Amino acid sequence: MLKIEQVAVAYGAIDALHGISLQVGQGEVVALLGANGAGKTTLLRTISGLLRPKAGEIRFEGEALGRSSAESRVKRGIAHVPEGRRIFPGLTVMENLDVATTIWRRRGMSSAEDLATVFALFPRLQERAGQLGWSLSGGEQQMLAIGRALMARPKMLLLDEPSLGLAPRLSEEVYRRIADINAKGVTVLLVEQNTVLALEVAHRAYVIENGHIVLEGPARELARHPRVREAYLGA
Ligand code: ATP
Repeated sequence: MLKIEQVAVAYGAIDALHGISLQVGQGEVVALLGANGAGKTTLLRTISGLLRPKAGEIRFEGEALGRSSAESRVKRGIAHVPEGRRIFPGLTVMENLDVATTIWRRRGMSSAEDLATVFALFPRLQERAGQLGWSLSGGEQQMLAIGRALMARPKMLLLDEPSLGLAPRLSEEVYRRIADINAKGVTVLLVEQNTVLALEVAHRAYVIENGHIVLEGPARELARHPRVREAYLGA
């Protein structure tokens, strides 16, 4: 579904990604693992069109994304939930979800149906529909950020550190919902520092170090790999 070939990205004179190649198949959950500053966020931002690669190509469903805008990529079915759950703090839960709907209504889609899907996944959001964004707990804000992305009916969800700053119980809950979303047919590419959790939910994973992919494989195999155990699982 997603094919990244030799993608290089730089911030001015500083190279962040050096010829990254990876693939995500339809229906997969794929995790990108790596330390702070390895380039994981840069890669997600490049896929969603927020950054331009200086070399290489990204194909989605067989078509080169080229220099297409972030907005056009959302329309093609790629939705990005950025790190730090950028919800609108001064808007209610419902208004946060409506912001997405306003964009999608142009496509003549029924937003009521999308809302029902989001509330079925995250009943807490329905309970708190009238509550302002800032007053939600960290876990609820993460669920709202994911819910808002789902309003776009994505084929592929890009998730940047969905467990960041959450207590273990909430992180597990967010990951259970990610598995539910995947079970409904949405392909997932996620960046995660919580390697244990990511490898439990992902089918496959890639490890990025200093802008290079250094390891890849089925999640179960990577969880047993000495380099992963030592560097990311504290074994
Ligand atoms: P983190 O988990 O900390 O976000 P990451 O793996 O997502 O780490 P990136 O944020 O993609 O890493 O950063 C990759 C490299 O690019 C780092 O060396 C970082 O310092 C650099 N970098 C990131 N954003 C910028 C920027 N806006 N300008 C210059 N350099 C940047």
